[in-house]
Amino acid sequence: MNSSLQQCLQIKNSFNVKAFSEKILKPNSIEALQEIADMTEVIEQHFYILGDGSNTLFVDEQAPTIIQPKFSGIEITEHNDHYSVQVGASENWHDLVSLCIEQGINGLENLALIPGSVGAAPVQNIGAYGVEFANFCREVNFFEFASKKLITLSNHDCQFAYRDSIFKGRLYNKGIITQVTLDLPKGWQGKTSYHGLNTLPDTASAKTIMNAVISLRQSKLPEPKKLPNAGSFFKNPVVSKEMFEQLQSKYPSIPSYPQPNGEIKLAAGWLIEQAGLKGAIYKEVGVHKKQALVLVNYGQGTGKDVLSLAKYIQQHIKAVFNIEITPEVRMISAQGEQPFASFTHFTPISELTYD
Ligand SMILES: Cc1cc2nc3c(=O)[nH]c(=O)nc-3n(C[C@H](O)[C@H](O)[C@H](O)COP(=O)(O)OP(=O)(O)OC[C@H]3O[C@@H](n4cnc5c(N)ncnc54)[C@H](O)[C@@H]3O)c2cc1C
Repeated sequence: MNSSLQQCLQIKNSFNVKAFSEKILKPNSIEALQEIADMTEVIEQHFYILGDGSNTLFVDEQAPTIIQPKFSGIEITEHNDHYSVQVGASENWHDLVSLCIEQGINGLENLALIPGSVGAAPVQNIGAYGVEFANFCREVNFFEFASKKLITLSNHDCQFAYRDSIFKGRLYNKGIITQVTLDLPKGWQGKTSYHGLNTLPDTASAKTIMNAVISLRQSKLPEPKKLPNAGSFFKNPVVSKEMFEQLQSKYPSIPSYPQPNGEIKLAAGWLIEQAGLKGAIYKEVGVHKKQALVLVNYGQGTGKDVLSLAKYIQQHIKAVFNIEITPEVRMISAQGEQPFASFTHFTPISELTYD
């Protein structure tokens, strides 16, 4: 392989780890997507769809073929009782939120400053401060590789759930999101009940709420451009009521979020902190000093270093609490995305350091 033909992905992932791909495709039309649908690597599933790379870890330096959609444009239509906003997948999510608020179109303010592209927003149904993408999504345009056609999925079709959608399930790797349409009602009521926003007056404007969300996020989360990271690294685990009661008898202050089916969601960050791993450092990567759910790259850390640290954390949490935590971040090998459990080549960590 001629390495000069390799294209660098380091600035295209918010962990800022070194990675290269021989092929980075940037389709911006249906014709370009139709050509991609015929490619061997797409048929054999050796590719990765990349937005802005803020929920992505390139574990191997060698990345597979990358498809980075470039569908841009924002179109706003005013109706009697709502605004309809059609947005191309490659637009930046936070810029969209700011633009809407500047134009007096309210609703997205609690989702300000979530990094990434609009096209990735439906995939994990992004959410923050009591609001999620699904609350405003009318439809998603999806180019299907098999039929080589654009299909439209309604909100119901998308099967949105907590950090989940059909794009992680039945439609996973089956095509590309090209555009989303949001409906933002004119009859707006701000959502300020979430801890941190509940000191705002009932009359707070959407802009005030957005600015409060931005300040809160900036005080809690490291800015990826200054300290590379991919946000929450692990998903919050869900356990049975019996398991929760056992844990609660040992750890009375354990945070818990009862689920509609009777199970209990726990806070992965709390478990990591309680296990003494907050601020831990391995080579040039580590657990963030203020927010244990965030893994950070202090400089020249590699994807493999982050993997080794994540495996260590997972094993340690299992040993301490008998709970298995798994990454929310997508893990990419040279062959494409792989489940965390299938990454078996990593350096077992014997010791972590602390500042
Ligand atoms: C500091 C920080 C804070 C964060 N806070 C939050 C938060 O509060 N709430 C939250 O929900 N998330 C949060 N995240 C995670 C991240 O912002 C979201 O997952 C975001 O949607 C990722 O967008 P992206 O374009 O960077 O996606 P990428 O990392 O590029 O891709 C993410 C997934 O979407 C798929 N994908 C991307 N584009 C398309 C497309 N056009 N068609 C089909 N599939 C596609 C990819 O294949 C991949 O599976 C945070 C991340 C960081 C770094």
